[in-house]
Amino acid sequence: MNRKPDAAELHVGGLARLSTCDWPGELAATVFCQGCAWDCAYCHNTHLRPTRTDTQMSWQEILRFLESRRDLLDAIVFSGGEPTLQTALLDAVEVVRSLGFRVGLHTAGMAPERFAALLPSLDWVGFDVKAPFSAYPRITGVEQSGGKALTSLRGLIASGISYEVRTTVHPALLSFADMLELRAQLLDLGVENFAVQQFRVQGVLPGRLPVTAKLVLPQDYGIRFVHFCIR
Ligand code: SF4
Repeated sequence: MNRKPDAAELHVGGLARLSTCDWPGELAATVFCQGCAWDCAYCHNTHLRPTRTDTQMSWQEILRFLESRRDLLDAIVFSGGEPTLQTALLDAVEVVRSLGFRVGLHTAGMAPERFAALLPSLDWVGFDVKAPFSAYPRITGVEQSGGKALTSLRGLIASGISYEVRTTVHPALLSFADMLELRAQLLDLGVENFAVQQFRVQGVLPGRLPVTAKLVLPQDYGIRFVHFCIR
């Protein structure tokens, strides 16, 4: 019989002890998980892409921190990297819930089955959509990545769990026509909450993208979503 991975096996690359933006509206701490299988040129967290590092934090350190914040924080967000690549995430989420915190997750949906198993234990998801689904490899460098993200996003919407879909925009990677196609796809899927994030150079590996470029969208771009913002 397969052993259920324990939270202590989670590879944690860092901890933000207080964030008001990782889960909008919640006072949260953010646990950054190691490992990502994709290669987005605008990645801000390239140090989290390897599955392990020498500077990893132990789960015991995370637990001690959580115990000290039980009455001070609303929530814990698991971010990355890509948290769903780690089999220990489900147990870590359950441990955090047992301490009384609400649980949020940042994901790009690259592991649909594991994401589906996590959904019942989550209170909120920040879901990265990279591009129109057929154009994913242009951003991620990985064939079939769009199909995995689409499966995960369908599961998220069907779950009824609170979420925000977010897309990072750089004109070298996404054109205006791409953004129109993406909007149509998201509306067809029933996405109600959508945020467009302008590319920021901080943390991005030098030379991968021009830094001055910005894609300007018309003011009414998001008018058909229930909640929409550009940030
Ligand atoms: S999916 Fe996220 S963590 Fe992975 S390379 Fe892309 S931006 Fe970075």
